[in-house]
Amino acid sequence: MDAFLLVEPYITGIISILGIFFIEAFVVASFKLYINQFLSPKTYHIMITLISGLIMTFFSIYFMMMSQKEDYYLIFGNLRMIIILIPIIFLNRNISLVSVILCSVFRLFYYGTTIVSLGYITIFSSFFLLVVVIQLIVKQNQVLTFIYSILSASVFWVWIYLTNFDGYHSYFFVAVVSDYLNFVILSSIAYVSASYLYHLNNLLFQTIEESLTDELTKLRNLKDFNAKMDDGFLKAREKREAFSLIIFDIDYFKTINDTYGHLAGDLVLKNLAKTIKEIEELKKVDVFRVGGEEFTIILTKKNGTESVRIAEKLREKVEETHFYYDNQLIHVTVSVGVTSLIKGLRSEITSNGFLELADEALYHSKHNGRNRVFISDVFTGEFK
Ligand code: GH3
Ligand code: MG
Ligand code: MG
Repeated sequence: MDAFLLVEPYITGIISILGIFFIEAFVVASFKLYINQFLSPKTYHIMITLISGLIMTFFSIYFMMMSQKEDYYLIFGNLRMIIILIPIIFLNRNISLVSVILCSVFRLFYYGTTIVSLGYITIFSSFFLLVVVIQLIVKQNQVLTFIYSILSASVFWVWIYLTNFDGYHSYFFVAVVSDYLNFVILSSIAYVSASYLYHLNNLLFQTIEESLTDELTKLRNLKDFNAKMDDGFLKAREKREAFSLIIFDIDYFKTINDTYGHLAGDLVLKNLAKTIKEIEELKKVDVFRVGGEEFTIILTKKNGTESVRIAEKLREKVEETHFYYDNQLIHVTVSVGVTSLIKGLRSEITSNGFLELADEALYHSKHNGRNRVFISDVFTGEFK
């Protein structure tokens, strides 16, 4: 029974710390997978930082309350420092900053401006600054940030036990050492579990990203195109918004392969992708490689005139660019097809039908000498 009472706070503490980082990793993953797409990168970053900061604050206050219980004092007192440390290492330091500030405010309101409150606020703020400085010195290296933070944190133990400012820590060498060892053990468990969880998260994001990226050109792939096309097209059709699709295909690519070799062809594809992404209007737009040398661009809320202008710019840019392979200049042109939903006008066309119209415009360009742009009318199918 006594032994149980001795280990029980440890078990509660370890489960708590695992729980927090699981919740945090889950929130980060859900945000990235489901909410990311609706927000600008900046808004996303601010929101995830605030939400994570609030989660850490909530648990920090919970740990503070738990540490008021006699048996839990040592374990939960230490856990408060650990949830400052881990987010700085694996997520971002602003999360810890948010929780340090909010917890300090909470402490001042809840306990008043006492020596104990001020003492703890000083300890947690200093620890935050200490970890940030260490992280900068070791250039973000996670293991080193962890080890140096843990080692230099021992200063706080000496300080707390020497001053005994809260009346709980009378100076006794064995007590300091065992308390500090508690901190080291719990921190290590937190570090390993958080490292594992965030590693899994990153692996998940990377795998998803890779499954939607074209290996050669690093553009988006057919799978991503199908999903985004269906989604974007149906939404635009329902809301009667302008919506355009550009589709283009390299002219005589087979000849390029036959003349200069397959590797030259690959290099042309790669450099063509890079060239296209340099066009101002396409920097923030997905360009998809949907076939060997066939590409598409979805232009949400862009009408036919604007899209033809962009398509023309694209065609011109490719024509003017010098592609080289082994110091041989390769002349490359593309034929382009465009089609557009017209704002305010109701259309019955399906996603596939829309795609076929753009494809027909592309073939019209091919049959009319290549290196040109045609748009097919979404109602009549005529080319312009
Ligand atoms: P057109 O102007 O009518 O489009 O003529 P084309 O020669 O470009 O058309 P075609 O569709 O007959 O040829 C496409 C060629 O693209 C055939 C194929 O060998 C080549 N190709 C497809 N994918 C790749 C690739 O990843 N790398 C290389 N180097 N060639 C590829
Ligand atoms: Mg071709
Ligand atoms: Mg082709």
